[in-house]
Amino acid sequence: MSTNLFLKQNSIATQLINFVFSIYCVIAVAITVGQIVIEYKHTQQAIEDELKTNQQIFEPVLSAGVWNLDKEQITNTLNGMLAIPIVIGVKIEQKGQFFTGMGIIKSNSGEVLKFNENAKPIAVVGADSTNIFSYEFPINYIFRGKSREVGSATIYSNSSVIIQRVQFGVILIIINAIIKTIALWCLFVWAGNRLLIKPLLKLVHAIDKVDFDELGELEINLDNKRENELTIIESSFSEMLKNLADTRIEIIKSHLLLEEKVKERTKDLLESKNEAEQANKAKSDFLSRISHELNTPLNAIVGGSQVLQCNMTQGDSDNSILLKHINTAGLHLSMLVKDIMDFVYSNKDEFEVNWEECNLNDIIISSIVMVQPFTQAQNITIDYEQKEHNVYADSGRIRQILVNLLNNAIKYNKKNGFIEVYTSVNSEGAVQMHIKDSGIGIDSSDQELIFEPFLRLDYAKTNCIDGIGIGLSLVKTLVDRMQATVSVYSKINIGSTFTITFKQKKEIQH
Ligand code: ADP
Repeated sequence: MSTNLFLKQNSIATQLINFVFSIYCVIAVAITVGQIVIEYKHTQQAIEDELKTNQQIFEPVLSAGVWNLDKEQITNTLNGMLAIPIVIGVKIEQKGQFFTGMGIIKSNSGEVLKFNENAKPIAVVGADSTNIFSYEFPINYIFRGKSREVGSATIYSNSSVIIQRVQFGVILIIINAIIKTIALWCLFVWAGNRLLIKPLLKLVHAIDKVDFDELGELEINLDNKRENELTIIESSFSEMLKNLADTRIEIIKSHLLLEEKVKERTKDLLESKNEAEQANKAKSDFLSRISHELNTPLNAIVGGSQVLQCNMTQGDSDNSILLKHINTAGLHLSMLVKDIMDFVYSNKDEFEVNWEECNLNDIIISSIVMVQPFTQAQNITIDYEQKEHNVYADSGRIRQILVNLLNNAIKYNKKNGFIEVYTSVNSEGAVQMHIKDSGIGIDSSDQELIFEPFLRLDYAKTNCIDGIGIGLSLVKTLVDRMQATVSVYSKINIGSTFTITFKQKKEIQH
């Protein structure tokens, strides 16, 4: 079915016409039936009246025949009566008793009987199936100027007589109703089509055709001569199209402007990116060269101070303390230099992980030994509950991570604070390493930020705590490279716990 036909058949106008017309049909049928019934009743009344007029015509003849008991005369009279088209039978009674009859009559017991033209019964038709109705009148004979009732006559007629009479009128009524209905239907369809269906279809097609890219070419003309709802819709639709076309032009303009701006911004961004990359490269080159330059003298300082400490005589305690400070500071500095170098290399592809079975216990003990010298200034204690756990990773890198986290736990701790290192296995079977401190803690809003390179929280800056803000960034990079994860749980003034979760060997992807 085409869309047109579908729309037409389902349009409001068609539905309206169908609805109104259906109701009209019901009313028309009811009126027609009413008319037929009235016509029938009227005709029946007319026939009954006609039967009555027979009384005046035939009563004198009948009265003479009955008075004289002249059967022949009576039979002739009855034959004459039966010749009238509306009469189907006549019955004569004397003193309530059947005397004679002709045609179809009803006996006193209700039986329908048929008599021939000689007034002889020929059949019993049976019960009243012929819708018989009758008119009875007395037969009076005037003898010596006095009227005497000598019997009664009943004239019969039936519904088929009425039907024959009304037949033509009924056919006319029906034809009249049919013609009126057809004419009204045609009028309805024609007017509905002209006033509703066609304009609505045009409107629907126009709405259907609305294409944002071709608004200028769309026009709508509903051919409405008079101002009505449709003309209002038509003008609103045209207005809307015009507004849409204007808006489209505005959108195209802003689109072009936006594209231009995006191009400019992209160019600026590319330039800034290049500049940033160059600056980053320069910074990396600088850091790498500085670290190399610092490494050799630092090794000499650390090594020299250790040799001097060994050669120290027992009484020279002042110099011994000084040498210890030089050694600790040198060690700290060389660890920082190593971190800087690793930070520079960690962003390059040549940074590799040496996958091996690592004994966490050994790594933790050696790391604690490494940071032990830095705990003395603040009198920090480091507790470690030993447990045997192996992980598949790079032991050198794990140590580097742990030293960084321990260094932070010392730096951001309180005087006489403590650090706890412990290992565990989580519900999924992954080994975890925890570094817990009793330090200043990290606000929840900063916990994501601290892993960004060169980012130091206010506390570190205002209290002039050593550091350049690459420790945790390096930790994150190393952890990622070993396919492990790092998380932090911290509460201000209570302390922080950093947790490293290692993957099981079977889960590692090479
Ligand atoms: P650095 O220590 O050199 O500043 P890091 O990258 O190691 O750089 O740490 C980044 C920042 O995170 C630090 O400046 C400090 O503010 C905060 N931070 C790191 N570890 C801790 C900790 N254990 N307790 C409180 N703050 C910490």
